[in-house]
Amino acid sequence: MHETKRRDLLGGLALGAGGLIAARAAAAEGAADAHARGHDVGPGVPGPAVVPHKAEDPIAFKYSMDATEPKLTSGGWAREATVHHFPISQGIAGVHMYLNPGASRELHWHAIAAEWAYVLDGQCQVTVIDPNGTTEILNFGPGDVWFFPRGHGHSIQTLGTEPCHFILSFDNGNFSEHGTFSITDWLSLVDPAVLAQNLGVPADSFASFPKGEVYIQQGKVVPLDSPAAQEVNSRVSPNTHRYRLMQQQPTRAFPGGTINLVTVDEFPISTTMAGAVMKLQPGALRELHWHPNANEWQYYARGNARVTLFGSGGRMATADFGPGDVAYLPQGYGHSIQNIGTEETEIVLTFDSGHYQEISLSEWLATSPTQLLANNFGVEEEVFAKFPKQQVFIAKG
Ligand code: MN
Ligand code: MN
Repeated sequence: MHETKRRDLLGGLALGAGGLIAARAAAAEGAADAHARGHDVGPGVPGPAVVPHKAEDPIAFKYSMDATEPKLTSGGWAREATVHHFPISQGIAGVHMYLNPGASRELHWHAIAAEWAYVLDGQCQVTVIDPNGTTEILNFGPGDVWFFPRGHGHSIQTLGTEPCHFILSFDNGNFSEHGTFSITDWLSLVDPAVLAQNLGVPADSFASFPKGEVYIQQGKVVPLDSPAAQEVNSRVSPNTHRYRLMQQQPTRAFPGGTINLVTVDEFPISTTMAGAVMKLQPGALRELHWHPNANEWQYYARGNARVTLFGSGGRMATADFGPGDVAYLPQGYGHSIQNIGTEETEIVLTFDSGHYQEISLSEWLATSPTQLLANNFGVEEEVFAKFPKQQVFIAKG
């Protein structure tokens, strides 16, 4: 805008209603100038339909997954959070799965989602086939992560005499673990004569196969020191489906907490999801931030935290989370997490992008001109002298 018009505009604003008319005229003139310079400044260009939010519109971003009815089987159980129960979670669905000693989650695949997992406790063996026909057999323990690209066939077998349980996260909120493509379901629906032809065996070979989906079945305990438990066929990066997240040094460490982050950079097969384990000490705050490129899904494994979520237009939500609770933070929504308990809080986080991006409040303010900030907030520049000069990430309590 020309300097003279800028002065006119400011003068107009100071003059009340008459001034506003002048200001609008000046703004229209400025727009006309911009048009003349070839800039597309609208108005008149219809944008996408936007449903306006009201400040009082609630944002329901908490779901107590572990308080829901599980899908129970002979060998364990699974609880899930999908958009059907938790409507905000459009981008990511989640599951808590628990396998008894000797149980296995049967051979299956997922048509519409990749699977990212974090082992909370116990030992298991995973078998996964990729489209090249290569099968990887891998053992997992607490703190390990697996990633199965969409459609890779897989199964999970508990090893040893302890149960094994893990958090699964899927890059599609519509995905239901209770609607997977399971081998027993499929084979029970195919004419045994077709199976016999396919595999070159007599049709009665399938006579005692299950008549429907097994899902998780109880079997014999596989001892940790048995040949079956030890015969693995692990591959190396970039083809392996395993990343030992908690065997790494924290990606970032602060007096108030740590984060172990894994993205496609460290774990090349995980092209569509990233994840992390964050630990917050009592009172510590994961600072205000947002993620430009991904939705965030959280499972609270230990401790208690208060999460704030900013949804624009005066909308703000706050909720308290404890073990077994899930949070969903839509892409671009501002949020913060504070440990409000007396113990360490541990959170499993996932994102529906292989790349991790964030912008945090402290870094934004630290890198903006103080003149700009003073003008923005209507205060003196000195106010910002004591603000942090770099990103805080986790502020101690
Ligand atoms: Mn699966
Ligand atoms: Mn976040």
